[in-house]
Order: sequence, then C-alpha cells, then structure tokens
Amino acid sequence: MTEIIPGLEEIAARYHTLEERVREAEVKAGRESESVSIELAVKYQSLARVRAALDAGAQLLGHNLIHQLEEGESGLHTLTSTPPCTHRTHVIGHVQSNKAGKALAWAQCIETVDTLKLAERLNRLQGERIARGEATDPFDIMVQVNSSGAPSQYGVDPALAEELVGAIAALPHLRPIGLMTIGAHTENVGTIAHSFSVVRELRESLRRAGYDSLVELSMGMTHDLDIAIAEGSTIIRVGTAVFGPRLLV
Ligand SMILES: *Cc1c(COP(=O)(O)O)cnc(C)c1O
Repeated sequence: MTEIIPGLEEIAARYHTLEERVREAEVKAGRESESVSIELAVKYQSLARVRAALDAGAQLLGHNLIHQLEEGESGLHTLTSTPPCTHRTHVIGHVQSNKAGKALAWAQCIETVDTLKLAERLNRLQGERIARGEATDPFDIMVQVNSSGAPSQYGVDPALAEELVGAIAALPHLRPIGLMTIGAHTENVGTIAHSFSVVRELRESLRRAGYDSLVELSMGMTHDLDIAIAEGSTIIRVGTAVFGPRLLV
C-alpha cells in the first residue's frame, strides 16, 4: 500500500482535522472539551514541516531520537523569520544513558523512563544542571509502562510499576507527572482498549497510594487515539495523521 506524503501546504488542514477528531472523541467519551492534548510525533520530519504544524496551532512536540531533538529545537529557536517558539517538547523514544544529558537540556519532559538506573542518572544530571544554574526545578518525567506484555516493547511491567514509581518519587530532582504507554500492536479493539485501561487503572491505584503528581496518561497514536481517549488518555502522540505515512521506523 502506498500513500502519498502530504505536501507542506496540507499540514495545517490535516492538523485542524486531527483537532476536530480529538474534540469529537472527547464528546463521545463523555469527557470535557480540551481534556486531551495533542503531542506531535515529529520523527524524521523536516523543520519546515514541523514549523507548519506549529503555525497551525500545535503546542507540544514529541521526539524519538535525541539528535533530532537537539537539531530540531536549536533549529526552530534560531529560525529568525518566524515568531518565537512557545511550544513544549517531550522525549517519547528510548533514552540511551549517554544521551540523557542532551535530553534534559533540550526537552521539558522525558516520557520513557522505565528503569531506576535511567532515573538515577537523570536525577544526578539534573542536580548538576541546577548546581550550574542551568535549571531550577525538578525535571518532569513519565514512567513508560509495557501494557501489552510484548517483549519487543520498552516499559516497566505493570506489576513492578509501583516499586519503580516509589523509588523515583524519592529522587529530589525528578518529578513523575504520569504514565506513558504504547497500545497493544493488534487490530483487535478490545485488546487495544485493555492495554490502555491497564495503565489508567495503574495510575488510579498509584494516586490512591499517594503518588498524586501522576496526572498524565500519554497513550494513543494515529490508529488508536479514539480508543485511548475513551480509556482516559490525556496526551495523544500523533505523527501519521498530520505528516502522512512514516518512511522510517
Ligand atoms: C511515531 C510515534 C508515535 C506516532 O505514531 P503515528 O502512528 O505516526 O501517529 C507515537 N508514539 C511514539 C512513541 C512514536 O514513536
């Protein structure tokens, strides 16, 4: 199946169509309007295409690759012909330990923390950034949960999530703000919905256990965002619906 990559001039309209789809899904799920944020997954997109989406109203970007995060953020901030950037940027891909410092420098949240080792490294580096005057606050992170059990997926096993969240909550320079997951990789709507409800219930039980900074649920992509919104997602991560089919990854 080949689908044509939409041109630069189509990106704004596609972003607005996505916004409508999200608002409709909120209504259908009986949720408040604008309770779901759109995070644009921008892997392998040119700066011009990302800029077109920002001009159309996008406020949150998600980067998978740390070198693209650095190039994208520094590039967008130095584009002189355009208004200043006010968007926020999250990391949504696996963070290798040697890239942790760059992730902290260029993003405002890392959604893919799934081991205590990575969390401890981020905590130490953020402490050093604060000591150098490069940052003032704890860094926002989310814990990635492997909700489908697929061995190919990153993320902590739901049964081990409370232990990990508890250990992260004790780190002074990180602030866990929610849970992130990639839905089950299947066409079966019930199975996908289950993978999202597992994470919602996990957040609810963690909040009952006292981790009440866990407000966000980052779940849902182009093909399953309606299911994710019905299951309580607060952030959907969307690439294809706006930028067209992925060429890589
Ligand atoms: C690419 C990507 C998305 C967006 O997926 P689409 O199907 O293109 O909407 C969401 N989350 C992660 C982690 C991704 O890598």
